[in-house]
Amino acid sequence: MSDYTMTIGGQAVTSDGTFGVVNPATGQVFAQAPECSRAQLDVAMDAAVRAFRPWSRDVGRRKQALLACAEAIKARLGELAPVLTQEQGKPLAKASEELIGAAVWFQYTASLDLPVEVLQDDDKVRLEVRRRPYGVVGAITPWNFPVLLAVWKIAPALLAGNTVVVKPSPYTPLSTLALGEVLREALPPGVLNVVSGSDQLGAWITSHPAVRKISFTGSVATGKKVAAAAAPDLKRMTLELGGNDAAIVLDDADPRQVAEKLFWGAFSNTGQICSAIKRLYVHERIAPAVIDALAGVARGVTVGDGMQPGSQLGPLNNAPQFERVIELVDDAKNAGGKIVTGGAPLGGGGYFYPPTLVTDVAEGVRLVDEEQFGPALPILTYRDVDDAVERANGTMFGLSGSVWSASPERAAEVAGQLECGTAWVNQHLAIVPNAPFGGAKWSGIGVENGPWGLLGFTELQTVNIAKA
Ligand code: NAD
Repeated sequence: MSDYTMTIGGQAVTSDGTFGVVNPATGQVFAQAPECSRAQLDVAMDAAVRAFRPWSRDVGRRKQALLACAEAIKARLGELAPVLTQEQGKPLAKASEELIGAAVWFQYTASLDLPVEVLQDDDKVRLEVRRRPYGVVGAITPWNFPVLLAVWKIAPALLAGNTVVVKPSPYTPLSTLALGEVLREALPPGVLNVVSGSDQLGAWITSHPAVRKISFTGSVATGKKVAAAAAPDLKRMTLELGGNDAAIVLDDADPRQVAEKLFWGAFSNTGQICSAIKRLYVHERIAPAVIDALAGVARGVTVGDGMQPGSQLGPLNNAPQFERVIELVDDAKNAGGKIVTGGAPLGGGGYFYPPTLVTDVAEGVRLVDEEQFGPALPILTYRDVDDAVERANGTMFGLSGSVWSASPERAAEVAGQLECGTAWVNQHLAIVPNAPFGGAKWSGIGVENGPWGLLGFTELQTVNIAKA
């Protein structure tokens, strides 16, 4: 029997099958989640289809419902945060921040409007361009920010008038199931359905005929499968995929001033952020000082069980990801890489790996070329800024990037040359609800957040009214 229930048609639903959820701080299964059957997915889709027309008619009611969702999350924060920490690994304070972020995103989204453009209005014709919802949105999320990334989809999809069937990662299903339970009172039945299961359930969603729009966040490899599954039915899609963000530190940056921010830009959430710094390019003149300052920050960080007060970084979320980080760092060592800090797992049963800085590596080494999605940062040097930009852009990833300098103007000019969806100056990971977030090249199609993200859950409708 599962400890958590799915939300289908506004009801709490269990299932015949369950699967274990591991606490990454111990490596042990600590709870069971429902394994949604194909028949249950059909019931969820049916509920979403039936809820669509009444829900799509009244935007004022939808705004009120979104505000109620924000309040419901805030009211139940104390219950939700430990669930998120236990299944994801992040420190409890960070789990609370993620949940507060989810509430903020609901509130912000409720303040947006669906634009109606009037192209002509005279005694003969009124010509309008409106935005219509798609119908049922299939939302699929990864395990690094399970609640926040689900809300990035749920809030704008609902405001636009769609209904939603959401599926979290099998590594972190519980906080999304709990979110569904918390939001049952705030939303009419069928408007938000939460189902849990394996990757196969994701494939059933992307090929389900009821789904008209897929909103997917995850890896590039899965994103390509999602795109292929959407094609035969011409489903619309937004894909938020992986990244291999470069940060470029210019020769005039102050190493001590930038080190702390660079560190957290790379290692927040134990490096498991799509748009974390994953390659650091430092001008050769200041590289020794930057490496020293970064190592100082890394040595002072406490890695531990997220439920323990004082832990700043939790474990990696799951065994395959843990193995992958070990493999990539070992490969870098074999390729001549020098380990400045960290470099081996911490042991103790959980998936703990310390913040690891690696120098003496270059393009062609897997840790540089691939998305590590963990606490291991390759540090590369350059002499000429053009060369750094070319190397930063020399990848099929294009999520975000940053440039660091004593002169924000100079850095902004370089940042504009980065082939990516978000370019930061003297900061990294500053993600806000009102600006678009998305990837260039293989890092995605479409954007989330802000009015642009909202419009991604709508299609245009021209309404041409003959008056005479
Ligand atoms: P993943 O691609 O393995 O899984 C993501 C989701 O897709 C999970 O819910 C999974 O069950 C589901 N899935 C798996 N196979 C599927 C299929 N064939 N059809 C449909 N759904 C399927 O990714 P992950 O390991 O959970 O997450 C890490 C990745 O996500 C990293 O690459 C990271 O960069 C990326 N990410 C991107 C963003 C962004 O906004 N761009 C944000 C967070 C994470």
